[in-house]
Amino acid sequence: VLTASGIWKAFGDKEVLRGISLELEANEVVALIGPSGSGKSTLLRCLNLLEPIDDGQILLGGDDISDPRVDADGVRARFGVVFQHYNLFPHLSVLDNVTLAARRVHRMPRQEAEDRAMRWLERIGLADKAREHPDRLSGGQQQRAAIARAIMTDPEVLLLDEITSALDPELVGEVLDLVRELASDGATILMATHEMAFARDVAHRVLFLDGGVVVEEGPARELFAAPREPRTREFLARLS
Ligand code: ATP
Ligand code: MG
Repeated sequence: VLTASGIWKAFGDKEVLRGISLELEANEVVALIGPSGSGKSTLLRCLNLLEPIDDGQILLGGDDISDPRVDADGVRARFGVVFQHYNLFPHLSVLDNVTLAARRVHRMPRQEAEDRAMRWLERIGLADKAREHPDRLSGGQQQRAAIARAIMTDPEVLLLDEITSALDPELVGEVLDLVRELASDGATILMATHEMAFARDVAHRVLFLDGGVVVEEGPARELFAAPREPRTREFLARLS
């Protein structure tokens, strides 16, 4: 569903992505791992057109979304996105947060959006918080609500950028469990993560980025059990 080829991106004279290619198939979960500054977040932001690319091509469902004439808002609406921070609007209820994009961007009628949102909130155990403001929720609950918001419009691809890295350790599990469930339901997910155990268990494939290139990629279990490239080995060794 998503194919990126030869993506280049510089900020000023700093080349951050240096010819990255990746392919994401429907129902596939791919993890991006790599040191801080290796370009994971930039890559995710380029893929959903939050950053313009300098060179390369991005196809989503066969459409060339890197074509400068493309309707960027329309493209972004086809992705579900969850970041590390600032996911929910503090002045809106949880329900309004979860339904906002569906109503504004996808033009989903209010009733339908609220019905869908409530089904998601029930599923993730937050139905009783629907009318509360986000500050009444734990960080883990807020991230789960942000995931509900991202998934409730049936995005073609879910992009997750370090969604647990701002959480207290005891709240990480509940968020990862939800991602695990979505993965087993067949969601198509590209996620940057520092949670190596999670990447190994949930991702089908892993891409190791360093210095703006894909140094190594492979099936998750293989890459973690037997990394081929010295840089991958060093990176994984440093973590354990
Ligand atoms: P982390 O694991 O810390 O999240 P990352 O792999 O996500 O790191 P990026 O955030 O993509 O890395 O950053 C890659 C490089 O690009 C870094 O050197 C960063 O300073 C630089 N960079 C990112 N965004 C910008 C920007 N808007 N302007 C200038 N430089 C930027
Ligand atoms: Mg990042």
